[in-house]
Amino acid sequence: TVTTRFAPSPTGFLHIGGARTALFNYLFARHHNGRFLLRIEDTDRARSTQEAIDAILEGMAWLGLEPDEPPVFQSERADRHTEVAEELLRSGRAYKCYFTMEELAARREEAQTMLAAIRAGEYPEAEVEEAKAQANKLLAPFRSPYRDGGDPPYDAAPYTVRLKAPSDGAISLEDGVQGHVSIRAQEIDDLILLRADGTPTYMLAVVVDDHDMGVTQVIRGDDHLTNTFRQIPIYQAMEWDIPSFAHIPLIHGPDGAKLSKRHGALGIEAYRDMGYLPEGLKNYLLRLGWSHGDDEFISEAQAIEWFNLDGVNKGAARMDYEKLGHINALHIRQAEPERLNKLVVDTLEKEKSLSEDQKARIKLALGGLSERGQTIPDIAAAAEFLLIERPIDISGKARKKLKPDSLNYLRELRKNLHNLEDWKPDTISDLISEFCDTNELSMGQVGPPLRSALTGGLPAPDINLILFWLGKDEVLGRIDDVLS
Ligand code: GLU
Repeated sequence: TVTTRFAPSPTGFLHIGGARTALFNYLFARHHNGRFLLRIEDTDRARSTQEAIDAILEGMAWLGLEPDEPPVFQSERADRHTEVAEELLRSGRAYKCYFTMEELAARREEAQTMLAAIRAGEYPEAEVEEAKAQANKLLAPFRSPYRDGGDPPYDAAPYTVRLKAPSDGAISLEDGVQGHVSIRAQEIDDLILLRADGTPTYMLAVVVDDHDMGVTQVIRGDDHLTNTFRQIPIYQAMEWDIPSFAHIPLIHGPDGAKLSKRHGALGIEAYRDMGYLPEGLKNYLLRLGWSHGDDEFISEAQAIEWFNLDGVNKGAARMDYEKLGHINALHIRQAEPERLNKLVVDTLEKEKSLSEDQKARIKLALGGLSERGQTIPDIAAAAEFLLIERPIDISGKARKKLKPDSLNYLRELRKNLHNLEDWKPDTISDLISEFCDTNELSMGQVGPPLRSALTGGLPAPDINLILFWLGKDEVLGRIDDVLS
């Protein structure tokens, strides 16, 4: 079965880039009727926190990207990682390297000095090649003498376990996004598999875990491409199947620079709190770096049907809040009324609890209100004129519309409204037009004062909708307030 995984390190929150990586892995698995797994890479004990683990799990649950199996915790698998390193030692694919950190540093320094001297022309012509070779040897601890079976410098000397990485040829990869990529094998060191204290390294852990979890397709950020070249030789040494890889470009800020906090490199929960819907954010993240023609609104079912690696762009994606808002608005309009209603009411009630009457007005207006914003708080704000209590505050600008003449029209209009039995947008609209005709008034004379009396100058939709949503009693009451 096609198996993908998301493998975050719980050292910070689940940010937008991580969420997109998770989404791509999820969609790839669903598209192929495969499995989507989660591995928490918590081997860096000092930097990993329970808080970050919770944020990852909650963020994924909120986005609807739940893995098909319980998460694997990398730190719990250290014994298995060690076992693989030992197997490689036994098979001769890895070796014990007795160099200490200090010795490695000293060799590096010596090599640098030699190279500097070569550049400065301090070596006689005839000795340059030889000196270069010697410096390169020193610079390459991975080609250490221990690789070919050197004895420990003293009994029980500490050692690291290093992989015998291939020393010539190329390490190449058909990447699902980047295409054919390769590097010379010489550029890769003899990777440390076990540290001197016996603990397995991250590079080993990732390969062992991906193999044991049956991962067939790795989709991750292109900052991991160099790691992949280092990981492939481990698969080869173990004679394991190498999964397919796809390295996706990172997300940049709107200005093209690496996404930083300043740009809103925020945790997923911040987007929830800003009032984006999970499906809106997912649709945006999908479109950020992947495309299907010009399609903008993409449902979950379509995303699963269409997702493929061919559609992933090779260039870095740029975060664009306007686009996010636009796509979110499309999803708000499609959301189940009941769910939307609850989100809007919950947002409003964070400030102040609502009466039954106020809730009923929101419910009635919801369809129209949902056209009036890109996020849940936008819609909550658009509902404000419905919720303010009588007598409502009237802004200075709105008050200017309430001249003595206008108040007279309102007094007359109030009588007609009072007599209207069938309170609906079209009957209200007919009534107002008739009123204008009969009294030889224009809509421009009647509309503005009526709007001022009913909204106090707050943003609101067409006048007939304002009346309809407020309901007859509230409308008559608000008019009375300005007439008294
Ligand atoms: N743990 C790594 C990270 O958070 C991802 C490793 C991988 O996907 O192989 O960047």
